[in-house]
Amino acid sequence: MKTISEIRADFPVLSRQVYGRPLVYLDNGATTQKPRCVIDAVNNVYTTYNSNIHRGVHALSDIASEEYENAREKVRSFINAAKKEEIIFTPGTTGSINSIAFSFGERYIRPGDEIIISHLEHHANIVPWQMMCERKGARLRIIPIDDTGEIIFDEYLKLLSEKTKLVSVTQVSNALGTVLPVREIIDTAHSGNIPVLIDGAQGVQHGTADVASMDCDFYVFSGHKIYGPTGIGIIYGKEKWLTELPPYQGGGDMVDTVTFEKTTYNELPFKFEAGTMNFAGAIGLGSALDYVLSIGRENIESMEKELLRYATERLSGIRGLRVYGTSGRKIAIISFLLSNIHQYDTGLILDKMGIAVRTGTHCAQPVMSRYGIEGTVRASLCFYNTMEEIDMLGTGIEKVISMFEK
Ligand code: PLP
Repeated sequence: MKTISEIRADFPVLSRQVYGRPLVYLDNGATTQKPRCVIDAVNNVYTTYNSNIHRGVHALSDIASEEYENAREKVRSFINAAKKEEIIFTPGTTGSINSIAFSFGERYIRPGDEIIISHLEHHANIVPWQMMCERKGARLRIIPIDDTGEIIFDEYLKLLSEKTKLVSVTQVSNALGTVLPVREIIDTAHSGNIPVLIDGAQGVQHGTADVASMDCDFYVFSGHKIYGPTGIGIIYGKEKWLTELPPYQGGGDMVDTVTFEKTTYNELPFKFEAGTMNFAGAIGLGSALDYVLSIGRENIESMEKELLRYATERLSGIRGLRVYGTSGRKIAIISFLLSNIHQYDTGLILDKMGIAVRTGTHCAQPVMSRYGIEGTVRASLCFYNTMEEIDMLGTGIEKVISMFEK
C-alpha cells in the first residue's frame, strides 16, 4: 500500500502553488485530478499510435482499435457487467442520460406515462427527462427528501404505479453527499417490472459500482470524476434494453448496411457509438481504472471515510457554520454556509488562500430550493486529500468569519 505522500506524488497538479500557497484541492466532486499514468496513457496514444479505430487495415489503426476495446473490457470488469457489449462509450454522464432519455422515450413512452426521479438529482438527471416528457406528453414525478437530505422511501413507494415506466436516481448526491439506498429502490421498482437507471457520476469514484449486485438496468458515469480524462463517459445497459432501444445518433460506425432506402444498424455496442469516438479518452479512462484498482477500492473507501469523519468534526466545531446534508450515509462531501456570509465571498477568500472549493447550486437547484437557500460552499474530498488540508480549510473558514466580524 502506497503512503499518502507517494499517492500525492502520482498527481502532478497537486504539487503546484496557487497565489504563492500550496494548492488545497477540495473540488473533487466537480472533477478529480489525474495521476501521471493517465496523462502518460493519453500522451502515448498521440505520440505513438494515433489512428482512427475500427476503420483502417493498417498497423496503427489495429493498435488503436485493440487498445480502445481493451479499455471497454476494463470498464466492464470494473463495474462487474456481464458482457462487453453492455458497455457504451459516451462523452460523459450528461451525454449518457440524454441518449437513454431519447432512445427510451422513442421506444416506450406514451402520453400519461410517468418517470420517477428524486429531489436530489443533478440537472443532468432532471432536464433530459423533462425534455423527453414534454415531447411525449409524459409526467415527471419527484421523490421528496427530508431535512437530513435523505429520500423519503415511503413517498417513493406511493409514487410507483402502473403508469411508471422508469425510475432514474443518483447513487450519491453531488450537492449534499447523501448515499441513496439504490438496492432497495431497484428491488422495489423491479417488483413492478419497472427498469431503473442509476446516475453513478459521484458514486463511481467512492466505493462500489457493481452493476451485477445492484441489478440496475442502466448505470452511467463520467471518466473525469474517477481520475480519467474529460470528454469520456459510460452507459452500462442490460443487453435486453440495449437490443430493444433505437440508437440516439446516426452516422459512421453504428451501421451495418446503408442504402438510401434503408439502413440496418451495427451490433452492440457499436449501434450506440456513432462517428469517431474519443478513443484516447477511453484509453485514458482504462488507465484511471487500473490506477484505482492499484490503490484498492476498499483502501480508498476507508481513507475517505476517515477524511469525512475528521472534516465533519473539525468544521462542525466552527461557530456559525451550518452543514447541509447530515445523513449518516454519505460520502466525503461537506456542503455548508456561514451565517450572514455569502457563499461566493467564502469561496473567493478561501481561493486566495490556495483552497479550491465549489460555490453555488452545484447544478442541483431543486436541492437548494428545498432548503430555501441560493447555494452552498462545497468541500468534496477524495483519497489524495490529507488531514492537514482539512485543518487548512478549518483555519481558512475561521479567518473568513473573523474578516466579516471586523
Ligand atoms: N450527475 C451527477 C450526480 C453529477 O455530480 C454530475 C456532475 O457533477 C453529473 C451528473 C454530470 O456529469 P458530467 O458533467 O460529467 O456530464
